[in-house]
Amino acid sequence: MEYEAVIGLETHVQLKTKSKMWCGCANEFGAPPNSNVCPVCLGMPGVLPVANEEALRLTALTGLLLNCAVSPFAKFDRKNYFYPDVPKNYQITQYSRPSTVSGFVDFEFNGAIARVRITRAHLEEDVGKNFHFERNSGVDFNRAGLPLLEIVSEPDITGADMACEYLNALKDILVYGGVSDCDMEKGMVRCDVNVSVRPKGAQELGAKIEIKNMNSFSGVRKALEYEIPRQIERYFPEPDLMPFTPTDPWLAEVKKRVVELPLARKQRFMRDYQLPAPDAQTFVWDVPLGNYFESVARQSKNPKALANWVINNLRAKMSESQATISGLRFKPESLVELIALVDAKTISSSIAQQVFSEMFDTGEPPGSIVRKKGLAQVSDASAIERFCDEAIAVNPGPAADFKNGKAAALNFLKGQVMKLSKGRANPNLVGEILERKLKA
Ligand SMILES: [Zn+2]
Repeated sequence: MEYEAVIGLETHVQLKTKSKMWCGCANEFGAPPNSNVCPVCLGMPGVLPVANEEALRLTALTGLLLNCAVSPFAKFDRKNYFYPDVPKNYQITQYSRPSTVSGFVDFEFNGAIARVRITRAHLEEDVGKNFHFERNSGVDFNRAGLPLLEIVSEPDITGADMACEYLNALKDILVYGGVSDCDMEKGMVRCDVNVSVRPKGAQELGAKIEIKNMNSFSGVRKALEYEIPRQIERYFPEPDLMPFTPTDPWLAEVKKRVVELPLARKQRFMRDYQLPAPDAQTFVWDVPLGNYFESVARQSKNPKALANWVINNLRAKMSESQATISGLRFKPESLVELIALVDAKTISSSIAQQVFSEMFDTGEPPGSIVRKKGLAQVSDASAIERFCDEAIAVNPGPAADFKNGKAAALNFLKGQVMKLSKGRANPNLVGEILERKLKA
């Protein structure tokens, strides 16, 4: 019998707050061990937690970004377990009434848009970190009590590739929304995998019996390792915290922070400006560059060419000179003008590079650079004929080669004419005139 995997993911994401979830200790990475701790996050007797308002906002914001419903009534529960990295011996989490439920993430997968449903995104606290040395172990509680979002997916994922694409999409959305930096190297995103197996095509989720019946001991062991601690955990309502009941004005404030999602932005750039997918993707990654492109594209008749200039030329120049969009010397209209000059064949595309470079350095409009330096393309046939005559006279060898049937020699001569004209001769005319003269 053929089997298929049914995968759900529980993704833990550290929220981008200044302080921890229940106390004022700093939320920072890389501080000396146990330097960001206080009686609250060390679980001392007699202390009380106070919820971090920004973490509540970021949780609601995540719910909105993941198309979830934001619950008007959420509460916190205690999840009791004894482990050295949990100083309180329980974790505060949202079990029975999470802040946000029932959403979805759309993402590109295998050339189509895939959807993974989100069961819930709930708020909890992170735990400390164990370190094991040669002869002893230590715990760093700097991470204990950091606000942590647990995003639980429905078992909509069918394979490892799809799981990776889902995680990438989720990460992009959270970074875009300013919810988390999602720095994997700093452990800001961690993931648990729930996988079960069922006969291919079956509608019901694989029962655990089926996992146990598989002819694989490691599969059984993995299932047990997952299931046993899960059943040992015990929850009860957190007595130290009031339920969380967001008001409409509070939620309205959070809604102002909802951003356009990466996939929607990519699709919009492709649709509105007819950009190819890689160009649109560049503007998804580089938001200021994309916004700049958009502001100029509204004035441009040729947004595709504009995207090329912005991505290939402007971006290179900016990184070379460490310039920023706001520090650009030339006006956005200048870029539009430059493209129009190329489109009207007033200047060649290689001359345009030169004009762009000067315009970038000085801020001077391209039209005036072209006039001042006499860079306009020469389409005057008699002027081009003079250049062609000179090129043929100076290069009798290649001219004879062409006459003897060596077609490639023409390109060499063309190059010589372009050189003589300092790149200004209209290349199409050069080809025509050279060929006519050589065949005469
Ligand atoms: Zn603390």
